[in-house]
Amino acid sequence: MRTCIKCKKMFPKTSEYFYYRNKNKEWLSSWCKSCKKEHRKLTWNNELQQQRKRRNNNPRAERKSQKEYNRINYLKHREEIIIATKTYAKQNPDKGKLANKNYRRNHPLRKRAEGAYRRAYKINATPQWADLKGIREFYENCPDGFHVDHIIPLKGKLVNGLHVLNNLQYLTAKDNLSKSNHYSLGEGK
Ligand SMILES: [Zn+2]
Repeated sequence: MRTCIKCKKMFPKTSEYFYYRNKNKEWLSSWCKSCKKEHRKLTWNNELQQQRKRRNNNPRAERKSQKEYNRINYLKHREEIIIATKTYAKQNPDKGKLANKNYRRNHPLRKRAEGAYRRAYKINATPQWADLKGIREFYENCPDGFHVDHIIPLKGKLVNGLHVLNNLQYLTAKDNLSKSNHYSLGEGK
């Protein structure tokens, strides 16, 4: 018999009642199995609490590591995730619409940058070296009452401009509408 030093109960000295501390030497743990299990549960809960605390103390860092995790997870399970997302979207059309609406409301200018990118991409106006992040920031920093304008229009009458940072400017909405896709070769560089 062996006494568990935690609960002080007696059990037969076998691996049925005690975990191995070292299996090769057949050393048994001094705590019985149920005490070990209990302890493990407790430390696991502590770990969860610690995790929550870390997240509350430093939400940004946690979010960053979560982002990294999501990225790796996506690469690992790309096909399944795409199928699951499509299925979910099909089954919950209203949720998708609502999410889209909220996204547009929360990031109105970013949405514009995306639209411009899509149009530019379609007509092959975004070269590989384009600073997409800079372009997005340019759209997001657009002052009230102004539009982002392509100095040389993407589809001009004489020349086609590129969707790159150097080719962007802020114009008042009125100027932008009157400018249309005209570009005189005299102005600008
Ligand atoms: Zn015990």
